[in-house]
Amino acid sequence: MSVLCLIANPARPVLTPRIVEAVQEKTGGTINWLHREIACEIIGPSTQSPETVARKVLQDLPVDAARVPARNRRKKLLLADMDSTMIEQECIDEMAAALDLKPRIAAITARAMAGELDFAQALAERVSLLAGLDANTIKTLRREAITLAPGGRVLVKTMREHGAKTVLVSGGFTIFADYFARRIGFDQAIANQLEFDENETLNGRVTGPLVTAQTKLDQLQKQAEQLGIPLSATLAVGDGANDLPMILKAGLGVAMHAKPMVEEKAPVAIRHADLSALLYLQGYGEQDLVY
Ligand SMILES: [Mg+2]
Repeated sequence: MSVLCLIANPARPVLTPRIVEAVQEKTGGTINWLHREIACEIIGPSTQSPETVARKVLQDLPVDAARVPARNRRKKLLLADMDSTMIEQECIDEMAAALDLKPRIAAITARAMAGELDFAQALAERVSLLAGLDANTIKTLRREAITLAPGGRVLVKTMREHGAKTVLVSGGFTIFADYFARRIGFDQAIANQLEFDENETLNGRVTGPLVTAQTKLDQLQKQAEQLGIPLSATLAVGDGANDLPMILKAGLGVAMHAKPMVEEKAPVAIRHADLSALLYLQGYGEQDLVY
């Protein structure tokens, strides 16, 4: 049996009983509200691909429709991408802005995230352009130029409260990932380490093994193994091409406001809602949320 989830953005709570009933009339199944005006599930829809049926009913309404299996919905491990997923910017582009290199570097980032460039090569090229940037400037823009993606904190806190491990896994940099992982409440952060010279200035290189698409996938498997849980009990979320392998392997894989090629291939795509959608997909309701 499956469950059809209808999820709106809490900043734009447009989900009404009338809309849900209009969907249920076409899909069959039992209506169960998770959060007033924001999230509702239809348990055991009887039509083929009820999410497609729902999207036809919803038309232009900013409501996501996603189908998930009815069993084992609550996950015990969350692996989340950072840039453009848990935060609203690409850190490397913001660092480039401090050197007046944003258009040049952002163009490479966009192509890398769309899967058009080799990730490692594109990263090395961009990091080399950042040589000379000092640590204080990075710390300032970390505070001033980066915003947390809505719903991230409630996602991480609620999952942790219910016994899940949460890991931020980023192809970006530890100087950002460690900081934002703490601010959002993750158990752990994994990212690339930028090399600074003795004057606390970037030398244009990273140290240690690169965090690539393969690293993210390996982490999913390794962390699940360490927790003694099957992959079906894992959740992975991201927006870029380097997130796709972990998204495809996880028990619940979500493309979050993602690049088209990621959205197309991911089992679930969230286009309208915020990160709290990942809780409703797991069957959490308003009373379960930890802010
Ligand atoms: Mg990203």
